[in-house]
Amino acid sequence: GGAPVLERLVVVGLGLIGGSFAKGLREKGLFREVVGVDRNVESCRLAVELGVVDRCEEDLATACRGADVIQLAVPILALEKVLAQLATFDLGHAVLTDVGSAKGNVLRAAREAFGGVPVRFVPGHPIAGSERSGVTAADGRLFRRHKVILTPPDGVDSEALLLIERLWRALGADVEQMDVEHHDQVLAATSHLPHMLAYTLVDSLAKRHENLEIFRYAAGGFRDFTRIAGSDPLMWHDIFLANRDAVLQVLDDFRDDLDALRAAVVAGDGHHLLGVFTRARVAREHFS
Ligand code: NAD
Repeated sequence: GGAPVLERLVVVGLGLIGGSFAKGLREKGLFREVVGVDRNVESCRLAVELGVVDRCEEDLATACRGADVIQLAVPILALEKVLAQLATFDLGHAVLTDVGSAKGNVLRAAREAFGGVPVRFVPGHPIAGSERSGVTAADGRLFRRHKVILTPPDGVDSEALLLIERLWRALGADVEQMDVEHHDQVLAATSHLPHMLAYTLVDSLAKRHENLEIFRYAAGGFRDFTRIAGSDPLMWHDIFLANRDAVLQVLDDFRDDLDALRAAVVAGDGHHLLGVFTRARVAREHFS
């Protein structure tokens, strides 16, 4: 509540995440205006119509002039280009942040674009989303009671960090800080690997059963396990390419364990199978 203290929020990329961030903060009235930038003209039109932003601006430099906060919510592989563009003009006092699902690549891109990570850059990653995408899916309550991980680089401006924390908290999120490498390893394990497995399972079955008839016999377990195979293919394509090293590490570990399970089935080693399943069930109980 209270009077708005900040002048302008600029959100670049008005999709599910950027749109939800813009809409939620617009509803909170923390900024005098919320301005959107999106290369898709239709998304811009819809964003204004749906009350996601106050207005859209075609030119990035014009939108950013005098801005207090610039949120980058474009697809991961588009981020490099946008950072390079931002580096060509004066960002003034603006605090820069992003929402990319992998973070090491973002820091590398920022370092490259600016010749060093800007001290007012606070990289972030909201652990919230859905299988939907685009501005029509924008929801100001998307981040409520969800974690947002910030990965501030060494030497980050502490006021910039506090401001970004404050914005996410205003949206009801639970903000945590993590070291970049740790973030990328944790997310590779808990998010990227499961998506890879779900996609592969569905594709592996689908291409062996052309009329997809077998899916008629799929039960609840299959449905639960494969829900995330309905996620945006382009976004996940970006994530695997961006978080390559961490993804390869968890994939190799997983393949070792799958091979061991296979060997146990071949050998009729029920002890191994029971061991795996029992440990997994106990571990699973810690987060249900
Ligand atoms: P989205 O496809 O819904 O939206 C992306 C938007 O960016 C689109 O409106 C597109 O037109 C626009 N865009 C693309 N290139 C652009 C450019 N060069 N300049 C300006 N606009 C451009 O995607 P999303 O789901 O909102 O994801 C955005 C970011 O959020 C990604 O980096 C993703 O990793 C991250 N993220 C997504 C989720 C999720 O579940 N969807 C969760 C956490 C983080």
